[in-house]
Amino acid sequence: MPVIADNAVVCLVCDSPLTVDGDAEKGEIIECSACGQEHELIGRTDDRPEVALAPEVEEDWGE
Ligand SMILES: [Zn+2]
Repeated sequence: MPVIADNAVVCLVCDSPLTVDGDAEKGEIIECSACGQEHELIGRTDDRPEVALAPEVEEDWGE
């Protein structure tokens, strides 16, 4: 397990480190530069950011 910075998280898909801006707000989307997966900042625990996989945005909103 690589050591990562306090403000960083690892990609939930490929384990690459993702850097989260210190002033990033909940709901911010962080894209993994390695695999392109988007993550949504869902909150912070003890100053560490927590992310979840961002829902895939469908361009077609109709039924
Ligand atoms: Zn990734």
